[in-house]
Amino acid sequence: MQGPFFKAVIVGAGPAGLTAAYELSKHNAPVIVLEIDPEYVGGIARTVNYKNFRFDIGGHRFFSKSREVEDLWTEIAGDNMLHRPRSSRIYYRGKFYTYPLKPFEALSKLGIIESTFCLFSFLAARLHPTRNPKNFEEWVSNQFGKRLFRVFFKTYTEKVWGMSCREISADWAAQRIKGLSVGSALRHALFPTRQPKDRSQVVKTLIDTFRYPRRGPGMMWELCTEKIRQLGGQVMLGRRVVGCRFDAAQKSWIVTARNTGGEMEEYRGEQLISSMPIRELVAQLEPRLPEAVLSAARALRYRDFLTVGLIVRDRGRFSDNWIYIHDPGVKVGRVQNYKSWSPEMVPDPAYSCYGLEYFCFEGDGLWTMPDSQLIELAKTEIAMIGLAAVTDVVDGCVIRQPKAYPVYDETYQECVNTIRQALEPNYPTVHLVGRNGMHKYNNQDHAMMTAMLTARNILTGERKYDAWAVNQDAEYHEAGAAGEQVALET
Ligand SMILES: Cc1cc2nc3c(=O)[nH]c(=O)nc-3n(C[C@H](O)[C@H](O)[C@H](O)COP(=O)(O)OP(=O)(O)OC[C@H]3O[C@@H](n4cnc5c(N)ncnc54)[C@H](O)[C@@H]3O)c2cc1C
Repeated sequence: MQGPFFKAVIVGAGPAGLTAAYELSKHNAPVIVLEIDPEYVGGIARTVNYKNFRFDIGGHRFFSKSREVEDLWTEIAGDNMLHRPRSSRIYYRGKFYTYPLKPFEALSKLGIIESTFCLFSFLAARLHPTRNPKNFEEWVSNQFGKRLFRVFFKTYTEKVWGMSCREISADWAAQRIKGLSVGSALRHALFPTRQPKDRSQVVKTLIDTFRYPRRGPGMMWELCTEKIRQLGGQVMLGRRVVGCRFDAAQKSWIVTARNTGGEMEEYRGEQLISSMPIRELVAQLEPRLPEAVLSAARALRYRDFLTVGLIVRDRGRFSDNWIYIHDPGVKVGRVQNYKSWSPEMVPDPAYSCYGLEYFCFEGDGLWTMPDSQLIELAKTEIAMIGLAAVTDVVDGCVIRQPKAYPVYDETYQECVNTIRQALEPNYPTVHLVGRNGMHKYNNQDHAMMTAMLTARNILTGERKYDAWAVNQDAEYHEAGAAGEQVALET
C-alpha cells in the first residue's frame, strides 16, 4: 500500500482529537487527523464566522480544575486568553432572575403568594419525601419542593432533553445537582465563600470568572492545529472516516475516508484514536464485532442542537453572557450574547451578535425548518423576551450541531460497558477519546484529559492510564459549591 505510515490515525479535529495529535507530535510521533468539516476545526468547540461576526456552539467557558489542562490552554493560546466576568440570568414568565440564584431576590420576584406556596411545598417535601426517587422530577422535588421544581428546573430541563422530567433518571439529577439544597443556596447567598488557595477547591472562579480566547473557542483549536502542523503532524479537513479495518498481518489500521469531492482515500497507522460517536465507530470496525455489540452501539442516543445567530443593533438592553429561557411560551432554550464573551466577537461595536439556542432531534420540525423560517422564529422570540426589537435585527444565520449531547438514558451505561468489553481485548490499538467518542457528557477539559492520557499510553507502549476514569478525577461538574448550580449548564 502507498503512502506514509502513521503512529496514529486520529478521527475528529475537536478538542480531544487535536489534543491527542498535539501531544503525540510534541514527541515526534507522526500523526494524521481526519475531520469531516471542510472549514472549521474545534468540533463542538468551534467558532463559526458569519460576515466577521463570531458564534460558538453554545458559549464555551474555559475552566478546569486540572492544572495540566489550564496550562495546556495557556501553552497553546498564551495572551489570546481573556479573563472574563460571568453574568447569567434566568427568564421566567416576564421576569429575569440572577443565576446562580440568589434566594431572596428569587423569592421577592416570585411574589408573596407564589413564595409562600414554594415555602410550604418545600416543607411538605422535607416532611413527606418520595421514597426511592426514580426520576428527575421526584429527585428534584424531594430537594426543593414541587413548586420550585416547576419554576426553576422543569421547563428548561425538558427543553434541553426533549423528554419529560419523569423519563430522566434520578441518577442523572443526583450526579448533576449533587450538593445543591435550599440550605446550601441560602448559606451561599448569606456567606459567600472566600476563594480558596487550593485549586481543587476553587469554586467561585467557576461562577464569577472564566477564561475565553479573544476570538472564541475555535481560536484555541485553530492555534493548536497550527502548532501540530509546525511539528510535522497533518490535519486534513473535509475527510469523513467511513471505514476502519484492522490488518492483522501488518498489525496496522487502514482507515478509509471520503473527501469532499466524493473520492475515497486510505490512511494507515499503528494506532487508531477515535473521537467520532461510538455508534459510528462500532458500525465501521472490521473485522466485525458480534451482533450484540453492534446493537448496543445502535442503542446509544443523542440530543441535537441548533443556534440561530442574530446580528443586532446594540441598544444596550442586554449585557449578560447568557440567559436561560425557562419560559414555556417560547421554544428558545438559552440566549447567548457573544460580545459579552469577548468584544472581538463582533467587527463593529455598534452591533451585537446573539445566539438563540434551540434543542432538538435531528430530523424533527425545528431541525428541518428552513433557515429563513428559523431566523424569523428567533426574531419573534427575542422580541417577546424583550432583548431586542425586531427592527434592530439586521441579519441572521443558522448553525446546526448534530449529536451535541450524548443521552444518559436507562440503558446507555450497559451499552457502553458491552462495547468496552468487546473492544479492549480484541482491539488493543483502538483508543476512544472525548465526548461522543466515549459517550460521556463532558466538557472540553475532560475530553482533552482523555486524549492526553491516551497519548501517554501510546508513547509508553502500555495502557498505564485509564481514560475512562477521567470524569471521576476531574470532579468540578459534580461536586463543590460551584458544581451545585450546574443543573442548567449544559
Ligand atoms: C451547547 C454546548 C455548550 C458547551 N459549553 C462548554 C463550555 O462552556 N466549556 C467547555 O469546556 N465545554 C463546553 N461544551 C462541551 C465541549 O463542546 C465538548 O466537551 C468538546 O467539544 C468535546 O470535544 P471532542 O473532541 O470530544 O468532541 P467534538 O467537539 O464533538 O469533536 C469531534 C470531531 O469529530 C468529527 N467527526 C465525527 N465523526 C467523524 C468522522 N466519521 N470522520 C471524521 N471526523 C469526524 C466531528 O466533526 C468533530 O469535529 C459545550 C457543549 C455544548 C453542546
